[in-house]
Amino acid sequence: MQTTILEQRAEQIHRKGDAPFSISCDKESLAGAVSQRACVFCGSRVVLYPIADALHLVHGPIGCAVYTWDIRGALSSGPELHRLSFSTDLQEKDVIFGGEEKLYKALVELIDRHQPKGAFVYSTCIVGLIGDDLEAVCRKVSKEKGIPVLPVQSEGFKGNKRAGYEAACKAMFRLVGKGDTSSISPHSINILGDFNLAGETWLIREYFERMGVEVVANITGDGRVNDIKRCHGAALNVVQCSGATMDLAKMMKDKYGTPVIRVSYFGIEDMSEALYEVARFFNDPKMLERTKNLIREELAVLTPRLEKYRGALKGKRAAIYVGGAFKAFSLVKAFRLLGMKVVMVGSQTGTKEDYEELEEITDDGTIIVDDSNPLELSAFLKEKDVDIFVGGVKERPIAYKLGVAFCDHNHERKEILAGYRGMLNFAKEVHASVTSPVWRFVPRRNK
Ligand code: SF4
Repeated sequence: MQTTILEQRAEQIHRKGDAPFSISCDKESLAGAVSQRACVFCGSRVVLYPIADALHLVHGPIGCAVYTWDIRGALSSGPELHRLSFSTDLQEKDVIFGGEEKLYKALVELIDRHQPKGAFVYSTCIVGLIGDDLEAVCRKVSKEKGIPVLPVQSEGFKGNKRAGYEAACKAMFRLVGKGDTSSISPHSINILGDFNLAGETWLIREYFERMGVEVVANITGDGRVNDIKRCHGAALNVVQCSGATMDLAKMMKDKYGTPVIRVSYFGIEDMSEALYEVARFFNDPKMLERTKNLIREELAVLTPRLEKYRGALKGKRAAIYVGGAFKAFSLVKAFRLLGMKVVMVGSQTGTKEDYEELEEITDDGTIIVDDSNPLELSAFLKEKDVDIFVGGVKERPIAYKLGVAFCDHNHERKEILAGYRGMLNFAKEVHASVTSPVWRFVPRRNK
């Protein structure tokens, strides 16, 4: 296995218990290591994509648009303009003479045809190289058409996916503060960092509404331009996940003084704590009572149904590799609840604090890894003889090639994994995958 780990990557891998905790992270990927990370443009695209009544225009070669076409599959309760992927399809001639005219014409035609509430224009690598002035074109079209047209400075090469999150948040922040907030309740929040892949945002909204909390804007799952315009009127920003929308919450805190809490909606423990934290913030005894009742009711249904899966999964080994480390914390706890053991955990964009927390909550011998790659991940899965690997679209083939069960916890899933209902779905899915008879026939098991 030693040959699999490049010398320069060694400091980004830690084995708990072997030595005092130390990990190098939050840095550029090693050239040639074939990182699992995506580019800056992709980072912006995944954050803004679920804003369903906006036009999303990728200014660049067609490949960038194809790469991120319908990337999250996020559900909308109304318009579905976000599911179309528009591109200026830059060609050699545009690269030589500039693409601004083409961009202007594309924007005008698309806005006339689709009547969106706003438009996001994504910059890609080649646009960064030829220097098209996105800001000027967007300003001109915005003035002519009377809707916000926002440049997203997401040139693929200028950093990693995390820089894309920041570019997306900067673009969204230009909308904030433009809407009427007069009718917003003092007990109000914005939900940040849930992308409504399978309807989670609706489920979480329902919990908050049962508590008596008004949700002003979902940013960005089932998102709307006009909600974002008035989201500065909410009393609290509730941010899920590590990175994707935290920059927006920070900008709102600086400009509007909106307080921020970080939560996770995954697993019983974290879901309940998220609801309690919001209730405690509003310091309203009646709301706290409603929250307790809600959790009690949900657990009364869930707990007996989980039992059957816990018995069958006891002692099975899991590996986790996700985008943001915050999700990994919840997954470690959820696997523990199912009686399973996490033997490897890593993320694309974790910070030092994130990894310190992972070190704290995992067992001795667990491999903790930052910004990994397929060769390393394959080696870890084999070494730890895992029963299930949890990750996203790029991790799925790694698992299947090795004959390891896989659980998609990213863009491609179609079943809710958040909330109490999501915990049951997760247990069912892990159980079905891990105990599938097919794994008996793969060479790894058939020795
Ligand atoms: S922006 Fe650059 S790195 Fe990203 S998909 Fe397009 S060409 Fe590739």
